[in-house]
Amino acid sequence: HDLPLHNWQNTLEEISNEIRPLLSKGKVADYIPELGTADKQAFGISISLINGSEYYVGDALTNFSVQSISKVFSLTKAFSILKDDLWKRVGKEPSGNPFNSLVQLENENGKPRNPFINAGAIVVADCVVSNTEDSLNLIIDYIRELAGNKNIQLNQAMLQSEKSFGHRNAALAHFMKSYGNIESDVDEVLDFYFGHCSLSMNCQDISRAFLYLANHGVHPRNNRRYLSASQAKRINSLLLTCGTYDAAGDFAFRVGLPGKSGVGGGIAAIIPGLLSICIWSPGLDKYGNSLAGVKALELFTTKTGISIF
Ligand code: GLN
Repeated sequence: HDLPLHNWQNTLEEISNEIRPLLSKGKVADYIPELGTADKQAFGISISLINGSEYYVGDALTNFSVQSISKVFSLTKAFSILKDDLWKRVGKEPSGNPFNSLVQLENENGKPRNPFINAGAIVVADCVVSNTEDSLNLIIDYIRELAGNKNIQLNQAMLQSEKSFGHRNAALAHFMKSYGNIESDVDEVLDFYFGHCSLSMNCQDISRAFLYLANHGVHPRNNRRYLSASQAKRINSLLLTCGTYDAAGDFAFRVGLPGKSGVGGGIAAIIPGLLSICIWSPGLDKYGNSLAGVKALELFTTKTGISIF
């Protein structure tokens, strides 16, 4: 990659101008009432390079609800604890179904298809809860360390809203428990899962936090190893095939990067060996991915000519 020649700031500003008309087209998630309060006109991008350079545009320093993006951090924790035993509990195949779907679990004996659909993330949550003490505080500190920001906090109103309206997630957890694929107490597992989904972070926190996946498992900002190079490769592969749910094929086709979306409107993506990027725009497409965010990432890889392919 001819880094010094590329004007990253210009690219971000061009993208920001081009996607503006799309902001009104998406629909803000409201199945958890607190999510419905997000501002549809908000838009931000942050990129963090392995070499330490950073660029951002728009509302990249405004906090939003990370939601499913946090599944990547809990998966990293669980994978580093359980190693390959993790895959006895959760699969590695795209689901082709919505993120909160229940239908595949019965045919597959309570083993979710992958760690990024809700069922899979709830099993991952159980793996962390069953193997650590004070698990929610532990994962929050872990995420703070990855982002290099001690001020990252839980949004309590979001957490209450997730808990009060989380019947589908509770159903998934109980159903999997009936197959023996949840070890700990269901409520404890759900508290952990809703907890990490309810964190507030901004684009810059998230692009910084994802850098270890762009750098073979070692975070270039603190030089700590979070995963082996092989494990980092595996998580990136899962992000490419499963990180955007039943739109993962379309995302891979248009963007060409491993990425993870959340219903708060954030999407994080990685260019291995170079950078991580986070985009935020709360209006979603019908799959639950940020509509302008996917377009912005498509423009980013098209304009820079850099993807994993
Ligand atoms: N907490 C949300 C849920 O479980 C996360 C979903 C998402 O971001 N796709 O419904």
